[in-house]
Amino acid sequence: MSQGDGPQPLSRLDMPVQFLKGVGPKRTDALARMKILTARDLLYHIPRRYHDASTITPIALAEVGTEDVTVAGEVRSKGVLPTRSGLRIFQAVIRDDTGIVTCAWPGQPWVDRTLRVGDRILVTGPVRFFHGRQIQPREHVLLSRSHAGRADAPHSSRSPAAPEAPGAQGTIFVVYRASEELPQWFFRRVIGRNLGWLLKQVAKEDLLPPDLRQALDLPQLADALRALHRPASMSQTDEAIRRLAFDELFLLQVLQARLRHRASLERPGIAFVRTNALIKPLHDALPFALTDAQTGVLRQIYGDMTSSKRMNRMLQGDVGSGKTVVALFAMLLAVEGGRQAALMAPTGILAEQHAGRIRELLGGLPVGVEVLVGSATGRRRSAARARVASGEAKLVVGTHALIQEGVEFDALGLAVVDEQHRFGVRQRMALVERDPQPDMLLMSATPIPRSLAMVLHGDLDLSVIDELPPGRRPVDTRVASAGERASVLREVRRRVAQGRQAYLVYPMIEESESTEFRAAEAEFARLEQEFAEGRTALLHGRVPADEKDEIMRRFQRREIDVLVATTVIEVGIDVPNASVMVVENAERFGLSQLHQLRGRVGRGREAGLFVMIGGEGVEAGDRLEVLARTNDGFEIAKEDLRLRGQGDVLGAQQHGHAPAFRFADVLQHQELIAPAQERARCLVAADPDLTAAENALLRLLLDRRYGDRAKLFGVG
Ligand code: ADP
Ligand code: MG
Repeated sequence: MSQGDGPQPLSRLDMPVQFLKGVGPKRTDALARMKILTARDLLYHIPRRYHDASTITPIALAEVGTEDVTVAGEVRSKGVLPTRSGLRIFQAVIRDDTGIVTCAWPGQPWVDRTLRVGDRILVTGPVRFFHGRQIQPREHVLLSRSHAGRADAPHSSRSPAAPEAPGAQGTIFVVYRASEELPQWFFRRVIGRNLGWLLKQVAKEDLLPPDLRQALDLPQLADALRALHRPASMSQTDEAIRRLAFDELFLLQVLQARLRHRASLERPGIAFVRTNALIKPLHDALPFALTDAQTGVLRQIYGDMTSSKRMNRMLQGDVGSGKTVVALFAMLLAVEGGRQAALMAPTGILAEQHAGRIRELLGGLPVGVEVLVGSATGRRRSAARARVASGEAKLVVGTHALIQEGVEFDALGLAVVDEQHRFGVRQRMALVERDPQPDMLLMSATPIPRSLAMVLHGDLDLSVIDELPPGRRPVDTRVASAGERASVLREVRRRVAQGRQAYLVYPMIEESESTEFRAAEAEFARLEQEFAEGRTALLHGRVPADEKDEIMRRFQRREIDVLVATTVIEVGIDVPNASVMVVENAERFGLSQLHQLRGRVGRGREAGLFVMIGGEGVEAGDRLEVLARTNDGFEIAKEDLRLRGQGDVLGAQQHGHAPAFRFADVLQHQELIAPAQERARCLVAADPDLTAAENALLRLLLDRRYGDRAKLFGVG
């Protein structure tokens, strides 16, 4: 594609904005304060709103109410009125073909200096009734000024005469993000004067090859940017945004493809040899048949492991979808090849539970299983470490203790990380930073929509278990109001009396929220009296880790009936007899988090009961009803994403390079994500360091966008 004009500046769009027509030194400073530094920044300073006939109300039809209306018209008269209270109000009467209306700006007499009689303006605000209809503009835009002056014409500069009724003739008015120093008219003018040149430059930067562009039905980059600044129709702008979204997704995927290349292709991995010496007996002895989803995922994992490429795979699956069994098969493949496998879990309890289940599944198979957790000390610990170092222990299950100093493996071939989000990137790396590098399988029990996973974890390969083993009984899920709490607790007491155990969950309590903390303790004291003495326990953020473990163990041993938790209960903990959970202030949790919690009570033979208290207000209630409606974690995650918006969801992810998108929306543009990833991976496979001449521009754009991060990840 574009080779640039010369060897030096690849793109003239990187010129300081000052070199553009109509931008002097003063404006340059003001633009810099809006983070517009280069010609490219100005070109990408696209309007934040558009108005056409569908959004502009004829003045005669503007009705009194609290909702904003937008009208456009000519200023007929204006003036500043003093009031008795001393407040000065600027007023202007505007007219369109259908009528007149007064606009009032209380406390903003300075607006008087910015408008002239005869100006065409657009105002947006609620219509009040005050000696007749009166609009109180939240925002106003100077569209055109008929006489000599500095205001520009409406953007349809093809026809310099301002159209009579804006919108009525299909004109679209664009509204830029402006500042007090740099008003609307400035942007309209400066972009008007430079757009042709800017588009000519950007046409040379179109990274999307025509065939892919056509396949995805996307416009050319220059056309997209033209459409955003000068739309001929509203639908054009959606198309154009889709195009910019693709570019954003593609650049991120290139960054991630390079990370992926570094991690799994650059350095050779171990090509495991599958003998079936262990896999087959496990298969035969398994008390159930693997689901199709499990089998499919295993095929992908075996493929990675037996190739010389290092596996770097993320395994996603809903609670109870059977990830542990899959991990065990993968670990056995490593052992068949004469190596060891490690499974790292976030807590000691989880590690022990995993080890227990693995031993059970292995039955009589001669595979040494070792547990390394923080609580072991002294001679026991050194004996365990010795078995790991000698290679006598084939499967090593543990916590952070696995990556502590002094832990040596004989030959670690595969590292599995459960609840991967509970570990930092560095901790996960510590497990695999050895020679040769072990394969890595990251497991996540918090399903996220595939499109989001591809954005967040584009550097990994993704496997999804999208099916639960047959015969799972859905948990009875209910939403209750605060007023129904007493009857809910009665139900809990009834089930406890029948020998069941229960969780009562409160939203996380921050250290600073001391009043809330006291409230929870008081609530706990009250609850304690409702149940048998000594059969309740309180878990909160301030309980030290070992004490927390001890409480969980007592709960597992059925020494506790009711566990009151103000901290999120150890995800993944398996207490089949605990079949009741009540969540207070449920509206404060994310839907996916609630789904995770519900997974705790669907483990036994008993049908579980899950009650969410809260959800005052229709909206909160509707949100919680999503859980009552479906048991599909992926579905719930999607709804969560839709309700909370991607900003929240991406922001909450502790992944090193969670992106902040300006244009891309992982739900709206999801069909673009896979093609963006595929194209990025092909490109990086062919030219990993992007040194080819035709990739120079891509490299430059990547640097512009992710410069610091690319360095941070060593792929700059
Ligand atoms: P996850 O870790 O994905 O939440 P687990 O691996 O803990 O799920 O599996 C949940 C339970 O389901 C375990 O008791 C496991 O033995 C059982 N299980 C796993 N796969 C199957 C299957 N294909 N059929 C029936 N039960 C299964
Ligand atoms: Mg699990």
